[in-house]
Amino acid sequence: MKASVYYGKNDIRYEDVAVPEIEDGDILVKMKSCGLCGTDIHKAQHQTVTGPVVLSHEIAAEVVKVGKRVTRFRPGDRVVTAIHVPCFSCHYCDRGHFTLCEQFKPTNIEPGGFAEYIRLPELHVKHLTHKIPQGVSWEKAAMVEPIGCCLHGLKQAAITPGCSVLVMGSGTIGLLSAQLSAMMGASNVIVSDLSPFKLDLALRLGINHAINPAQENLEARIGEITDGLGVDLVVIAAGVSSLLPQAVNLLRRGGRVVVFSPFDQNNMVSIDAARFFRDEISIVGTYSLSSYEMPEAVEIISRNRINIDEMITHRWPLSSLGEAIEFAANPQHDVLKVIMQMDD
Ligand SMILES: [Zn+2]
Ligand SMILES: [Zn+2]
Repeated sequence: MKASVYYGKNDIRYEDVAVPEIEDGDILVKMKSCGLCGTDIHKAQHQTVTGPVVLSHEIAAEVVKVGKRVTRFRPGDRVVTAIHVPCFSCHYCDRGHFTLCEQFKPTNIEPGGFAEYIRLPELHVKHLTHKIPQGVSWEKAAMVEPIGCCLHGLKQAAITPGCSVLVMGSGTIGLLSAQLSAMMGASNVIVSDLSPFKLDLALRLGINHAINPAQENLEARIGEITDGLGVDLVVIAAGVSSLLPQAVNLLRRGGRVVVFSPFDQNNMVSIDAARFFRDEISIVGTYSLSSYEMPEAVEIISRNRINIDEMITHRWPLSSLGEAIEFAANPQHDVLKVIMQMDD
């Protein structure tokens, strides 16, 4: 079978690899659509993983073979899945922190999403794999995993009807978080980004305000929009750590910042710490998703609760992964979600 294998920066090879063998509780799927995640681009560009490795975790696929003990799925089923499974019984899992479980990161699909065939191990089959409802396209189904991640983050956000939300960064995660916030009842949703293309897209998706901080004073605009109160919630969905002090300053009293971004460069920042005691603000982090968000994300997609179609801007065949990453990583390009596709 073919896979797009990452060996190092600017070195992704579309090559022959062995079809994974399945065991009795596993299933083998044929990839149909696979999303290119910001973290895949980050890993490839900043070389935070050592190759050879097959990236991607946003998979929509068709079941082609099932192990003897598998009863929930059969060949021909259309499924979505994610990549990490917690143990559900450790100190972290007992407290609902599934993504921090020691078993979480070591569990993985084989070899990764950017491959023709993928083995979903028994734990993934049991806890993370769901059928794609009728009428949902492959490429839309590939958005289930990122939607699940945003739901996971927004569970920390305590969105209440009528609240105001600022999402810093209007990439896929930013625009999904903004749309989901509105779906959950936020009445004033604001996004910020440096890309005019992404800001236009945000307005087309129904976001109330789209601000370019290079052209407008973000603090002044937030003041205007919220009558001087500040926003109830800031979601940081851009990997720029200097956004954190700014986010803290833009909160209303009692507001909250949800950080959903790898701040792994220049990560030491200063914030106005007096606001914790004086204004009861809070800052929480979020990463990935738990198995509980997968069915919720499937439901949101199948009922068209948010606009996904407009967010998918580019499609490439799996063989062009290197080109797709280079294109998507260039801030000059008008691109939001890239979907890699496997032909029949
Ligand atoms: Zn992702
Ligand atoms: Zn655990």
